[in-house]
Amino acid sequence: MRNLRDMTYDDLASEARRLEEKPYRAEQLFAWIYQRRAVDIDEMTDISKAFRARLKEEFFIGGGNVLEVRKAADGTRKFLTELEDGARIESVLIPETDRLTLCVSSQAGCALGCRFCMTGMAGFTRNLNLSELTNQVFSAIKILDEGEKLTNIVLMGMGEPLNNFDNVLKFTKILTAPRGFGFSHNKVTLSTAGLVPGIKKLGEESNINLAVSLNATTDEVRDRIMPINKKYPLSELIPALRSYPLKGKRHITIEYVVLKDVNDSIEDAKRLVRLLHGLPCKINLIPFNAFPGAAFKSPETERVLRIHDFLKEAGFVVIVRSSKGSEIQAACGQLKGWYEAKGA
Ligand code: SAH
Ligand code: SF4
Repeated sequence: MRNLRDMTYDDLASEARRLEEKPYRAEQLFAWIYQRRAVDIDEMTDISKAFRARLKEEFFIGGGNVLEVRKAADGTRKFLTELEDGARIESVLIPETDRLTLCVSSQAGCALGCRFCMTGMAGFTRNLNLSELTNQVFSAIKILDEGEKLTNIVLMGMGEPLNNFDNVLKFTKILTAPRGFGFSHNKVTLSTAGLVPGIKKLGEESNINLAVSLNATTDEVRDRIMPINKKYPLSELIPALRSYPLKGKRHITIEYVVLKDVNDSIEDAKRLVRLLHGLPCKINLIPFNAFPGAAFKSPETERVLRIHDFLKEAGFVVIVRSSKGSEIQAACGQLKGWYEAKGA
């Protein structure tokens, strides 16, 4: 049996051909799956009973076994999904004044091993398939409160999305298809640790927003905290960002996790200004979220604010990302750790 939530529009079109159905069946199915969010093939009442019966022989709609939902006082919700093979992934819903963002995981674990990242330290399990990506959106919609509407999607959860390129690209196409989830391209953002060939490919094949975890201003420091920098150093990464196609008023988001005594000096701020000079970007300063066994410490607020003010004065759009939902371990990889520690 195959999951309909694993199918792109093109997959459905070729299934319709194989089953000798009219091409518009693919459109109907696509809308039923992603726009109308059918949970059962029999809900598709404008499709003949005979064709539904035929579909049910080979297909089902499902997945997304949510083990636990935790809600913080600030409205942040984090949920843990168990996949068919027992692997576990997390997704986070983040309410802000004018938006409600879902942070989606792209892999179970991550192979890039960034030293400040709990997911990275735990290693890589596997890529998520398409239904495991789409199911995070379905599960999130199910737990929304009355009157809430999902407005933004960020691929910023566990994993490196550009290392799961094909499934992630299919996922973003379904997110932005008018008869799919219907998000506008500028409401979908992919965050990468800086895989240069993947950034180029994404720019050619998609027009979603790009966020890059820069996190350091010299190769020496970046090599130390993000091993991927040895493969794609700043001298390759920054030009790749400069040539990423940005349409209209769009910008690249630069993420900078601030680690105490590692990358929190005023010299770092000066180097950031030089590195990013002229690049249409928005800088997110993220104070390091400590976890048990971490090799780093959270920075002093004063140091973070000093960098913030310096960048702002240099003309950049910069924000300090507040630690949302800290009491529910909302930072990357922490709910999974918490759940397993209590013996689940
Ligand atoms: N692999 C992608 C997306 C997932 S990580 C990437 O690296 O961009 C999402 C973000 O969380 C990254 O910006 C990363 O730098 C940040 N991050 C990871 N661990 C963190 C921690 N302990 N505290 C604060 N930010 C962290
Ligand atoms: Fe992977 Fe991103 Fe964590 Fe680095 S920060 S280990 S790339 S998930």
